Amino acid sequence: MFDKILIANRGEIALRVIRACREMGIHSVAVHSTADADAMHVRMADESVCIGPPSGAQSYLSIPAIISACEVTGAQAIHPGYGFLSENANFVQIVEDHGITFIGPSAEHIRQMGDKITAKETAKALGIPCVPGSDGGVPDVETAKQVAADMGYPVIIKATAGGGGRGMKVAKTEADLVQAFQTARSESKAAFGNDEVYMEKYLQKPRHIEIQVFGDGKGGGVHLGERDCSLQRRHQKVFEEAPGPSITAEERARIGEICANAIGKMGYSGAGTVEFLYEDGEFYFIEMNTRLQVEHPVTEAIFGQDLVREQIRVASGLPLSFTQDELVINGHAIEVRINAEKLPNFSPCPGKITAFHAPGGLGVRMDSALYDGYSIPPYYDSLIGKLIVHGRDRDEALARLSRSLGELIVDGIDTTVPLFHALLQEKAVQTGDYNIHWLEKWLEANLQG
Ligand code: ADP
Repeated sequence: MFDKILIANRGEIALRVIRACREMGIHSVAVHSTADADAMHVRMADESVCIGPPSGAQSYLSIPAIISACEVTGAQAIHPGYGFLSENANFVQIVEDHGITFIGPSAEHIRQMGDKITAKETAKALGIPCVPGSDGGVPDVETAKQVAADMGYPVIIKATAGGGGRGMKVAKTEADLVQAFQTARSESKAAFGNDEVYMEKYLQKPRHIEIQVFGDGKGGGVHLGERDCSLQRRHQKVFEEAPGPSITAEERARIGEICANAIGKMGYSGAGTVEFLYEDGEFYFIEMNTRLQVEHPVTEAIFGQDLVREQIRVASGLPLSFTQDELVINGHAIEVRINAEKLPNFSPCPGKITAFHAPGGLGVRMDSALYDGYSIPPYYDSLIGKLIVHGRDRDEALARLSRSLGELIVDGIDTTVPLFHALLQEKAVQTGDYNIHWLEKWLEANLQG
């Protein structure tokens, strides 16, 4: 086992990893930009190293700065958290070349899943069901018309190098297609420096269902059920729950087994998430994330497992600490993402926290790096906390969410907390009857304008 781990991240996820390290008796090293000198992750870690100026590109994304911090402190492994360098295959390669362990899958697996066309081909070859679509990239409008005519409208054009919901365009008819194709290409070129696009059938009312998997790197794999992350704004998740209200035990076992077998066959190591759209009882693979997800705590709650501890164990060469049979679901968990944003436009709202009180009590977990007097810097993501509740069933989890949101105090800035108070009044949220388009429509009708 490692003696010392460096956490190449900030905010709540850096704290999350520091906490796991402390429970395992591992020394933690925080890195930070000059803007984060007073941040909670710096205070809570055993050691810290300043790695650059405020801009992410010159600090949390600076590979030389992070490798140097490892060498100076003697850290043997790096946990990347999510975002920043967590899915950068080149970074992983450099880390390994320096004799440091990357806590996550191999560079090769990250590269394979980072390109969406290769990811889909890999998934298909491993027996994972995919959304009907083009075979690989679509080079020009004429081919696009042919593909769309074959599978039927509406279609979605997506960037091969895509991420964060960018470079995606929907075409309802052939008349829309020319424009949509060109826009998707130019957006993709601007955002990712690559204008290759591919096409899929556009699903009209799917849920976003993702399967948590864990590989031991030696051919073994397990799944930890699904999360339903259908409540999204601009293709970004805001409310996640496990288990999925629409998924039966039989469906979970079937799709879970397909995913666990697939990552076993790949020889995948560590945590991963296989993302699907789910409509009319069918699962359609869209992508795989080769890292810990923001929403991992809902899975931890219902399985009573520490996924970060497991990532560290597997990276150090230990076997998985659970078998598939030992993974049993207990109750229901919900997470809401609390952002420093002002409604109704969700404009970023950094600033000084004048009062902070985290909710508590049975079944309540608050993952946040806030404290009284902290100033949220304007340079990074607007996520300031995740409130996770766990109950014996979905109704109890909802009641607990409402109760704990009422206890939370974040003064001095605007947050997205009022959105969740409002959503909890909605029948669709109370019954779990929503799809990926529901929240956008609700926002249009209730908030904007
Ligand atoms: P990104 O990597 O940019 O997040 P994804 O492929 O994961 O892109 O898709 C993000 C979201 O876009 C999905 O959760 C879903 O809401 C929507 N989406 C993607 N593909 C389709 C599709 N074929 N039909 C309908 N919606 C889709």
